[in-house]
Amino acid sequence: VTDWQGKNVTVAGLGVSGIPAAKVLHGLGAKVTVVNDGDDARAREQAAELEALGVTVRLGDGATLPEGTGLIVTAPGWKPDKPLFTAAHQAGVPVWGDVELAWRLRELDGRKAAPWLCVTGTNGKTTTTQMLASILEAAGLRTAAVGNIGVSLLDAVLGEETYDVLAVELSSYQLHWAPSLRAHSAAVLNLAPDHLDWHGSMEAYAKDKGRVYEGNRVACVYNLADKATEDLVREADVEEGCRAVGFTLGAPAPSQLGVVDGILVDRAFVENRQHNAQELAEVSDVRPPAPHNIANALAAAALARAFGVPAKAVRDGLRAFTPDAHRIAHVADVDGVAYIDDSKATNTHAAEASLAAYESIVWIAGGLAKGATFDELVAKSAKRLRAAVLIGADRALIREALARHAPEVPVVDLERTDTGAMLAAVQEARRLAVEGDTVLLAPACASMDMFVNYNQRGDLFAEAVGELGT
Ligand code: ADP
Repeated sequence: VTDWQGKNVTVAGLGVSGIPAAKVLHGLGAKVTVVNDGDDARAREQAAELEALGVTVRLGDGATLPEGTGLIVTAPGWKPDKPLFTAAHQAGVPVWGDVELAWRLRELDGRKAAPWLCVTGTNGKTTTTQMLASILEAAGLRTAAVGNIGVSLLDAVLGEETYDVLAVELSSYQLHWAPSLRAHSAAVLNLAPDHLDWHGSMEAYAKDKGRVYEGNRVACVYNLADKATEDLVREADVEEGCRAVGFTLGAPAPSQLGVVDGILVDRAFVENRQHNAQELAEVSDVRPPAPHNIANALAAAALARAFGVPAKAVRDGLRAFTPDAHRIAHVADVDGVAYIDDSKATNTHAAEASLAAYESIVWIAGGLAKGATFDELVAKSAKRLRAAVLIGADRALIREALARHAPEVPVVDLERTDTGAMLAAVQEARRLAVEGDTVLLAPACASMDMFVNYNQRGDLFAEAVGELGT
């Protein structure tokens, strides 16, 4: 689409992606109708704002396809099996997500579009995207971490600021609705069951994640420890000359990045042909230095190197990086016990990674399981557990898995789903921990049964730890 004048566009969903999309499309001269399932006070307020501009808004009816629609731009979270999309499909109306819209508009009015370096995966997306942006910045490039994080892609693409390159975090939902996206290079960090209720199956979820590799020009970065990511590279249709670049926590083979004697090493993008490896940084430059986070750093480094960033900038960028809150954050040491907040571990795959980073753990877990099972997580982590303290709606699932795979581990089931349970959990954990242990909040579950979000869950953990000393 180059001429938007008078084009009938339906925007599905008010909210963080819908409102800016409606405004931009309206500004381009399109006839915009926003449809929204909800009809509450907030929706009415947002609708009034858009209507004042001349946008049509239909509240309380997100199912009916407005007459004459030529294109739907949907919020990424809308499920593909919604009646609106069935109707669109039958009428031959294309559906784009927020990412697709930004991608299509990136060269609007003859702009010089910045290449996209894309990051997806079940876990580690935000961290890796931020590490990547930090490395690109250290190389003196104008960049931003955008997408499913921080700055919206539409803003990055159409705003005043211009960029040399973008570090783009993409969710599986966004990828589902972004059929024509073509990245410079992309990484899939890992692939574990998550959001299956949305995608319908693991196959569909993997297929949507794999979209990130389609049409890559320079490099498809994958995880050598996660064969599913390698399979996605193999299945992708890429530009000629695009390379498959694996990363590993072990020693890298040619065309891989990895770790040798505590040094992050690049054997894929070696500048000097006389050398067969380029040293990038030390493991201790990566914070926190947990194994899964070294993997994130390698993936970020691979994307930056694919863009031509020198080795020194990788080291400087990693050193300058500080992780976001609630991601393996060291809260305090009390009586020789470390208290770690990994409230962001909202699924079993993430919790497995953080449990693998410590030896003798009093584990605080539980919340909303989102359909997950806990057998594998508990079986793999059992030998590291000193004890477990369980809270939240689906804690019985974890308790049962512990009984099956770690019967010797003491378990305290607090039988609570109220916000105050965190204080009790921390006090209980303190009672169970001995010097040298780690009390780890890695819930393996979503937080919404007890807390506003994972931020509040982590904040309350830190608060409770703060009260231990007093
Ligand atoms: P995302 O944006 O994908 O949710 P984050 O970077 O915010 O990822 O990290 C979320 C959680 O996932 C962290 O708290 C940590 O427990 C876990 N995690 C981070 N990186 C990885 C990884 N590479 N593999 C497994 N788990 C990870």
